[in-house]
Amino acid sequence: MKTIMVIADGLGGRPDDTPEGTCLEVANTPTLDSLVDRGTAGLMHPIKPGVRPGSDTAHLSLFGYDPEKYYTGRGVFEAAGIGMDLGKNDVSFRTNFATVDSDGKISDRRAGRISDGQEELEEALSELTSKKYPDVEVRFKTSTEHRGALSISGEDLGGNVTPTDPHELGVPIPQAKGLDEESIKTAEVLNEVTDQAREILESAPINVKRRKEGKLPANAILSRGAAKYPDVPSVEEVYGVSASVVAAGALYIGVAKVVGMDYIPVDGATGTVDSKIINKAKAAIRELEGGKDVVFVHMKGTDNASHDHNAEAKVKFIEKIDETFAWLDDNIDWNETHLSFSGDHTTPIRYGDHVAEPVPVMIVGPNVKTDQVEMFDEYTAMHGGLGTFSGQLLPITLSYSDQLKKFGA
Ligand code: ZN
Ligand code: ZN
Repeated sequence: MKTIMVIADGLGGRPDDTPEGTCLEVANTPTLDSLVDRGTAGLMHPIKPGVRPGSDTAHLSLFGYDPEKYYTGRGVFEAAGIGMDLGKNDVSFRTNFATVDSDGKISDRRAGRISDGQEELEEALSELTSKKYPDVEVRFKTSTEHRGALSISGEDLGGNVTPTDPHELGVPIPQAKGLDEESIKTAEVLNEVTDQAREILESAPINVKRRKEGKLPANAILSRGAAKYPDVPSVEEVYGVSASVVAAGALYIGVAKVVGMDYIPVDGATGTVDSKIINKAKAAIRELEGGKDVVFVHMKGTDNASHDHNAEAKVKFIEKIDETFAWLDDNIDWNETHLSFSGDHTTPIRYGDHVAEPVPVMIVGPNVKTDQVEMFDEYTAMHGGLGTFSGQLLPITLSYSDQLKKFGA
C-alpha cells in the first residue's frame, strides 16, 4: 500500500478569522467535505498541548520525530533545503545579503531585496576560508533574493552560536559568541568569515554596478539560526519506507531531506498563494506510481495569508487546495492508498502568528473506519473518530497502509 500526507501550512484558524467564522468554515470545499465524509477526522496538537509550534519543529513531530530530542535549529534545514550537501560535521546558518554603510553600520538587512547578481556574489564568496583554523571548510550558497545559507564544516564544532544578524538597523554587525566550550571555535570562524565577506563583497563588480545604478550594495552577510546537523535516523531506518517530498519552501524541503526523503522539484511551485499546487499533486502521484512508498506534499499559501492577516487570501487558497484535491481524488488508486491531510499548526488571522491550538486532521483510505463527520473544519473535526492526539501523523497514516514496523515482539 501507499501513503500520501498533505500539509497545508498554518491551516487552522479561530472563530474571528472572518465575520462568518474560521477560514476553513467559510471556504467552499466540496472535495475536502466529500473526502472526510468517506474518511475519519480528528484534532491534532502538532507537537503537544500547550506548545506553540515552529514550522520546522512541527514537521519533525508530524513525521514522528520528537523535536525535543532531534531539533538543533533552523539553519540546517534552510541550508539543506536550498541544496547544500550537509554532513554530521556541519554547522549551518541561514543568511541575508545586507547593506552596511561607510561607518560600518547596517542600513538595510536585505540589501534592497537584491533580485539579480547573487550567483556572482556566491562565486566571489567561494574564497571564504578560515585562516585561524585551516582544517575548517566554509561554504556559502544563495537562494532567493537576499536569502542564502552558510555552512562551516570541521571536527568538534558546536552549533550553539549567537547570530550576527541583530534584526535592527543603524548598528554594526555584532560579533558572534559561542555559548558553550565547543561552540567558541565556531563563533571565531563565523566572525572571521563575516569580516572576509565584507571585504570580498565591498569590491565585487556587481556591487560597483549597483552603486552606480543607485541601488544598495549587497556588501555584507548576516547569519542566524546556527544549527549543527542533527543525529537523526532516516524514515527508511525508522519505518522501512522510501519517501519523497514535494514542496517549494526551503525550510520544509530541508526538514524532509534531513529525515531522508527525496526532494522532487515541481514547475510553478513557489511557496506562496500563487503557487501552481496542482503540479504538486501530479508530482505526488508520479512518485507513488514510480515506486515510492510515501509522498509528503507541503503547501505554504495558507500560512503566508495568515501571517499577512489576510482572511480573503487564506479562504481563496483553501479553495485552491480543494480543487487540487478534486484532481487527487480522481487520480489516487483508492484500493491501495491512504491519504492524510492537516496543518502543521494553527495561524489565526488576527494574531498573525502560530498558536498552540490543535488543527483539524483527516485520514481517508480503504482501511479507515468512517465516522459521522461530513464536513471538514475546526468544529466538525472535534467529533471525529480520530479524537484528539499529538503529532505522529505520518506513522499513524503508515499503520493504515500496513507500512508501520511493530514496536516490540
Ligand atoms: Zn508552518
Ligand atoms: Zn508561519
